[in-house]
Amino acid sequence: MTPQPHPRAGAAVKAADRAHVFHSWSAQELIDPLAVAGAEGSYFWDYDGKRYLDFSSGLVYTNIGYQHPKVVAAIQEQAATMTTFAPAFAVEARSEAARLIAERTPGDLDKIFFTNAGADAVEHAVRMARLHTGRPKVLSAYRSYHGGTQQAVNLTGDPRRWASDSGTAGVVHFWAPFLYRSRFYAETEEQECARALEHLETTIAFEGPATVAAIVLETIPGTAGIMLPPAGYLAGVREICDKYGIVFVLDEVMAGFGRTGTWFAADLYDVVPDLMTFAKGVNSGYVPLGGVAISGEIAATFAERPYPGGLTYSGHPLACAAAVATLTVMEEEGIVEHAARLGTDVVGPALRELAERHPSVGEVRGTGMFWALELVRNRETREPLVPYNASGQAATPMSAFAASAKAHGVWPFVNMNRTHVVPPCNISEAELKEGLAVLDTALSVADEYT
Ligand code: PMP
Repeated sequence: MTPQPHPRAGAAVKAADRAHVFHSWSAQELIDPLAVAGAEGSYFWDYDGKRYLDFSSGLVYTNIGYQHPKVVAAIQEQAATMTTFAPAFAVEARSEAARLIAERTPGDLDKIFFTNAGADAVEHAVRMARLHTGRPKVLSAYRSYHGGTQQAVNLTGDPRRWASDSGTAGVVHFWAPFLYRSRFYAETEEQECARALEHLETTIAFEGPATVAAIVLETIPGTAGIMLPPAGYLAGVREICDKYGIVFVLDEVMAGFGRTGTWFAADLYDVVPDLMTFAKGVNSGYVPLGGVAISGEIAATFAERPYPGGLTYSGHPLACAAAVATLTVMEEEGIVEHAARLGTDVVGPALRELAERHPSVGEVRGTGMFWALELVRNRETREPLVPYNASGQAATPMSAFAASAKAHGVWPFVNMNRTHVVPPCNISEAELKEGLAVLDTALSVADEYT
């Protein structure tokens, strides 16, 4: 996989992109997307032959890296036999993918509704919860991301909601626990947990328990900063949901399928939701696929009453064949265990060591291949290195940090004042150490702003 330089081809790709591609989350004239010539394993490269180690796994989805030969072969084979078939039919790739997913999801989440991606999985989970309970409202956390479609963006807690929020539309936000920036004046994880649960229950009491259909939470909030919930929090939410007859939805679109060093983040906390959304890692994003894993009780609601919702491409055979191959490869190659071991033995200790030497590192948190460094101007006051709602495009200390990492061959995940260490779950130990050494160099750039 030695990349060959093709600068002229790269220029043509960039010119057509600039003329005709309308990019997500961007001011169109202020961006300069890299033209990517190829990708393999944990690396991708541009047309000048410059190679990058992908510490972002795309948008945190290439859990088995790029171009895994067995998954590519499975897609080719499916394309040769049955590229597509409508959702109302039983199709081998679809039923096999559903079986493999249901076998791995916790508890009795045994029915799988397939969607095209994460946001529409969240939309359908909310619809199922509303129909199951007959109640209108949905509670979700500030500091969350649930997707870019309308209901999902309303549920999202982070500033990306602001421009397109259609008013609350039955959505009520609450504060989930996050000790480093506690909203509850807590000094210990135990206090944070107890007060966050009390806050949630009080919110429900004032909203009217009989009006609340669902609580939607990322098991570990991802885009918002990889905040691991304190021990007991998710079990406490489960209890609250049971007490008031509220559907508990865990969003595992980013945290699921090995990212946390377990099949699902819910496994770390021994909690079973009523509905669980997934996408991304289910097939490493080789073909778009998402879904909702549904409990027996909620599935029973739609046993003799039709579920009013569907998608043309629900359970697309090509995407499902990629999922079957991905899950098989993850099992055969022990990728989940690998992510757990490298997280505990390599990433955690390395990031904590970086935090000791770099004054810009405010906090290190994570598990498996799911880590965040929160960067600050001042460790005492915890003032973020960039404001909470900083635009992704303006030149900031974070963009200087990212530019340094890229110049040294690592593509970082940067959001607001954080960089996330989220490489493919099957990255080798040597590649991981190479990337962590580059972060060390790039953090020296961030330190200049402290
Ligand atoms: N939920 C979570 C937790 C996510 O991280 C994302 C995507 N980053 C989504 C939902 C939306 O997924 P998609 O972009 O595939 O619609």
